[in-house]
Amino acid sequence: MSPIELNTDVPHSARIYDHLLGGKDNFAADRDAAAAITADWPHLAISMRANRNYMARQARFIAEELGIRQFLDIGAGLPTSPNLHEVVQGVDPTSRVMYVDNDPIVLVHARALLTSAAEGYTSYLDADLHNPDAIIASQEFRETFDLSKPVALSLIAILQFIVDDDHAHRIIDTLMAPLPPGSVLAMSTVTADSAPDEVNKGVAAYVARGINEKARDRAECEDLFRGLELIEPGCVLVNHWRPDDAARAVPDEHVHMYGGVAMKR
Ligand code: SAH
Repeated sequence: MSPIELNTDVPHSARIYDHLLGGKDNFAADRDAAAAITADWPHLAISMRANRNYMARQARFIAEELGIRQFLDIGAGLPTSPNLHEVVQGVDPTSRVMYVDNDPIVLVHARALLTSAAEGYTSYLDADLHNPDAIIASQEFRETFDLSKPVALSLIAILQFIVDDDHAHRIIDTLMAPLPPGSVLAMSTVTADSAPDEVNKGVAAYVARGINEKARDRAECEDLFRGLELIEPGCVLVNHWRPDDAARAVPDEHVHMYGGVAMKR
């Protein structure tokens, strides 16, 4: 394997996210960028935490209520407790998870994502969501999934980086195409609806640092599920999606992500 080039002097979204969640896998450039971005977007860390908790709730719901045992998580991020495989293997240790990310630092830490229960399986692929064909053509995809059974495609806090809507739709369609009926798309992405000034300034602060990102309104977020059947409560601010006490305690104006789960029929 060739040495991994971390580009530590350029801020990366995965490391900014890690820093704001209290992680240690980040560098001065990421912390400087995070400080500048949160000057404009002060509740970003609260929103990210609400999103991370949503990720765990929807993954548990998909495993417990929908009985799905296979998960394709693209934009996995740095290991953060609990990781998706820990949530779903907590429901059934035979669950199988394939993680995908394109950030070199996530690749460095991938081993921490690959601590599967002995009965289950986890894999990791270094790949770009912009090229979904490479993901479904990969050996990891073939080895992780039995395509006679449903798969949950998890795109959590990543589609804000795919700023072209047509491209986002093509990506989702390409990834859902090989999955059988009963498969689901679990998604969350950035919105400015709940705090327009703050989020629009914050998104501009990301873009100014070379990280292309966009906020979507409710209709645009819902449209990302087109062709699929949204499961209750639909596409909502992530703190409203089947909330627990922690989610109920977060004020809407501090939550800047819509999320939902929808099924392929
Ligand atoms: N899903 C996790 C992490 C979200 S942070 C969570 O919700 O907690 C967004 C992640 O998407 C980062 O790790 C970043 O490296 C990754 N990412 C951004 N653009 C990507 C792309 N084009 N292809 C693959 N991964 C990407």
